[in-house]
Amino acid sequence: MPVNSEAYKKIAAELKDKNVTLVAVSKTKPVEDILELYQLGQRDFGENYVQELVDKYEQLPKDIRWHFIGHLQSNKVKLIAPFITLIHSVDTQKLLREINKQAIKNDRIIDCLLQDHIAKEETKFGLDEEELKELLTTDFKDFKNVTLKGLMGMASFTDNAEIVRKEFQFLKSLFDKYSTLQTTNYKLQTLSMGMSSDYKMAIEEGSNMVRIGSLLFGERAAKK
Ligand SMILES: *Cc1c(COP(=O)(O)O)cnc(C)c1O
Repeated sequence: MPVNSEAYKKIAAELKDKNVTLVAVSKTKPVEDILELYQLGQRDFGENYVQELVDKYEQLPKDIRWHFIGHLQSNKVKLIAPFITLIHSVDTQKLLREINKQAIKNDRIIDCLLQDHIAKEETKFGLDEEELKELLTTDFKDFKNVTLKGLMGMASFTDNAEIVRKEFQFLKSLFDKYSTLQTTNYKLQTLSMGMSSDYKMAIEEGSNMVRIGSLLFGERAAKK
């Protein structure tokens, strides 16, 4: 499947108008495809497998901002810590601790989003409401090298638009609540929600960062 550069131009312009950041999800796609969008001006790319991301990072221009959007194992953090721009998928304190440790080693501050479990339809990775509160309100005196920038969520895989909308609304309500709560140590500013099938709705419901893959790069072959 070739890159759909017409779709890219249209979506990129639409999102720019709305001040929504486009993360082009390039998982399973070759570096040539990424370069094609790069040449059209795209700089934010998302990957969800560590080794694949590292391989692509090494081959591609160094001003690309890489986003890690998949489930991240603690023992792999060290591989992406030197260059990652934003980790969308923090879902345990243990993982956050490891990101902080590797950030210190690389003399960096790593921005992270907390992934929330919003899909009612099936089990997915992510924090429930209690765990989210706990992570945001713990006084992380020794977590100086991570910044919690916002929240990320994935809606249910369903054709029922009302279910998806309700899940987005729920995530937005958490975002609003914790953006204003005095006891949190972080100022949440990024709300990462919406993919190819539901990004328009996600933006209507308050998203300011969308992760779009198949609309730009074509369908993925395997079930990755
Ligand atoms: C693959 C993936 C996307 C993009 O999905 P599309 O439906 O191809 O747009 C977005 N977010 C996450 C977490 C993903 O794994």
